[in-house]
Amino acid sequence: MTYIHDTIVRLQKTSPAQAEFYQAVEEVLDSLQPILETNEKYQKHAIIERMVEPERQIMFRVPWVDDQGNVQVNKGYRIEFNSALGPYKGGLRFHPSVNAGIIKFLGFEQIFKNALTGLPIGGGKGGANFDPKGKSDGEIMRFCQSFINELYRHIGPTTDVPAGDIGVGAREIGYMFGQYKRLTGNYDGVFTGKSLLWGGSLVRKEATGYGCVYFAQYMLEAKGDTLAGKRCLVSGAGNVAIYTIEKLYQLGAVPVTCSDSSGTVYHETGINLDTLKELKEVRKVRLNEYVAAHPEAKFIPAADYPADGNAVWRIPAQLAFPCATQNELSEADAKALVANGVIGVSEGANMPSTQDAVEVFLDAKISYGPGKAANAGGVATSQLEMAQNASMQRWSFEEVDEKLKVIMKNIFLNASETAAEFGEPHNLVLGANIAGFRKVADAMIEQGVV
Ligand code: GLU
Repeated sequence: MTYIHDTIVRLQKTSPAQAEFYQAVEEVLDSLQPILETNEKYQKHAIIERMVEPERQIMFRVPWVDDQGNVQVNKGYRIEFNSALGPYKGGLRFHPSVNAGIIKFLGFEQIFKNALTGLPIGGGKGGANFDPKGKSDGEIMRFCQSFINELYRHIGPTTDVPAGDIGVGAREIGYMFGQYKRLTGNYDGVFTGKSLLWGGSLVRKEATGYGCVYFAQYMLEAKGDTLAGKRCLVSGAGNVAIYTIEKLYQLGAVPVTCSDSSGTVYHETGINLDTLKELKEVRKVRLNEYVAAHPEAKFIPAADYPADGNAVWRIPAQLAFPCATQNELSEADAKALVANGVIGVSEGANMPSTQDAVEVFLDAKISYGPGKAANAGGVATSQLEMAQNASMQRWSFEEVDEKLKVIMKNIFLNASETAAEFGEPHNLVLGANIAGFRKVADAMIEQGVV
């Protein structure tokens, strides 16, 4: 389609060197062909042209002093992409790979993900090319304070509500909230993913992983199957992976892998969740230490991965849960998964499968839940945190978990019914993209040219 080509060429010219952003845009536009062809209104109102352009992009210097007394400088970002459905909502990522293109792809995905939740939240994302690895607590705090010294003027409980993402958890949210409060004097729900001691919501920590497993459960149920007894591959070892593994166990499945930048752990009888939590949540060390506690498990160092992909996806299993990061699952990985008989993939990370890998899954007609649908449980529970803060209430774990299940079920139904409406019932990429787009686009039209 020429409009896809024209849009990408225009973006390449006006926003150069943002490969991941073009990838995310191309995937969405590709799905939108059937709805754009039959609906002139979207073209008339220049919806695509407006949607790919963030409403606002904030880029700023983040200077801080390390423990040796040296001045360090990082780049900070907040992209306020689309507020048609509500205040900008999306996480902050602190990772050395962060640049304007990464934040922009994440922000773009967030628009549709947030729309799919059915909750009143717009799309935004932010972060910094700061590497929290190996930093002391004091360094993390000084970095977070400096980051907020600029960001505080752009955020607020009804304007833009950041949360965590890779490298940003409850500790970082605490330091950022503290500085925000000091600068503004406001004790309000400006962040989500807060500590349970001061305004956080039960289940928020677990929500992305739990939601991703609920999504897999609904995909399997639609085919008369269940999670019970299924061997599952999980990548990553952060918040999303840990709580994906926890929920898989609760629903009777057997997660056999996890991974980090040092390599992959393959534990045939099932990953030991206590050891994983101890290594990652308490000691914050690399996964190669896992085998010290479990000599029967196998550790595959990252240096031994196949040249065309990731060792974790070469292990035979029935389900796969990519929970690490973008483009961690290649076309060759997807082919290996399908050849090994995988029946479902549910993405806990944002855009973990390359576009060619997605094609492999769709061609094989396996159950494939794209990240913007399958991992929406995190941001959805953030909105539940906002609702509790705004009404000065606190809901029980069971109450929030129940709401999360209902939201995930509705996302699945919305995506699959929309996919069926457009003649490709198995294609949840198509269904999720069109369902999310339609909501945001129609809201934009009703709100005029803004
Ligand atoms: N970073 C998460 C995501 O990718 C959560 C964002 C949020 O809770 O605002 O959706």
